[in-house]
Amino acid sequence: MLVDSFGRVATDLRVSLTDRCNLRCSYCMPPEGLDWLPKPDLLTADEICRLVAVGVERLGITEVRYTGGEPLLRRELPEIVARTAALRPRPRLSITSNGIGLARLAAPLAAAGLDRVNVSLDTLDRDTFVRLAHRDRLADVLAGLAAAAEAGLRPVKINTVLMRGVNEHEAAPLLRHCLEHGYELRFIEQMPLDAQHGWRREGMVTADEILAELGRAFSLTPDDPAARGSAPAEIFLVDGGPARVGVIGSVTRPFCGACDRVRLTADGQIRNCLFATEESDLRGAMRAGASDDELAERWTAAVRGKRAGHGIDDPGFLQPARPMSAIGG
Ligand code: SAM
Ligand code: SF4
Repeated sequence: MLVDSFGRVATDLRVSLTDRCNLRCSYCMPPEGLDWLPKPDLLTADEICRLVAVGVERLGITEVRYTGGEPLLRRELPEIVARTAALRPRPRLSITSNGIGLARLAAPLAAAGLDRVNVSLDTLDRDTFVRLAHRDRLADVLAGLAAAAEAGLRPVKINTVLMRGVNEHEAAPLLRHCLEHGYELRFIEQMPLDAQHGWRREGMVTADEILAELGRAFSLTPDDPAARGSAPAEIFLVDGGPARVGVIGSVTRPFCGACDRVRLTADGQIRNCLFATEESDLRGAMRAGASDDELAERWTAAVRGKRAGHGIDDPGFLQPARPMSAIGG
């Protein structure tokens, strides 16, 4: 098992399939994009499947989520999903995606064994989408969401990041839209993980503010906290339920004490935290001929060193050198 020195057990593996993306969300990367990883540095589909198998079969991983960058840009995704779904014990299997291309891929991915999708949607307004993501693709995202629900990839979960002066007024309309379509909405506080290092605490829309804004349009009651487990979202019943909304207060309401996640970057590095400043190189070891046992040992050691918390509030906090798109959100 992947246990750290505080007794937390990592069972939820986030795998970044690529650092590339077809959007440029301003809380994530600059409009001109980034210096993408060179292709030889990326794990191949075989390498990804081997490492995921080590995690599932030897290290107690029960949940695998493919992310990025934009995971739908990776042509082999249906194959990677099918190979992951064939592992035993079979892990729960999901992707986090911006939804572009999902209209075409939802059905093949469901057929390959994908259980669920998380789709990012920050606005329902086309002009705001262009302002925020620097691409005119809102219609593609909405079509992708519809296709995911149609393909049975339920519950379709939506991730929303609110930015001050950009889309913060859309909290209630977004929730209404999600309730109408049967999507589960979760707001995520903006974190200092953008490539431009432009995050400022004063600019962040906090969980308290999101809840206050939603409270003007809906009545919210906290769901049973025991049901939360290690999930980062605090869940609220909307207008008495059963509809629900989640708020992930990563910065102002950290949940590090219950964290069960571990990350594998697109270039084969294990990160024990989004905010880790160190990584453990499985790609190099694998390409140098390491056995599955040796890979499992390196991975176990990497998790053992996980820090107690992300430390965003510590005076000495350092934003990780790699942005969210490269780590895998
Ligand atoms: N491209 C896919 C997408 O957007 O869903 C997957 C990768 S993206 C890095 C994963 C999630 O991280 C998205 O929901 C996105 O909104 C969120 N995200 C990116 N940068 C963030 C930041 N600085 N703070 C909080 N969430 C962020
Ligand atoms: Fe791309 Fe996702 Fe980052 Fe937006 S949040 S730029 S969709 S990786």
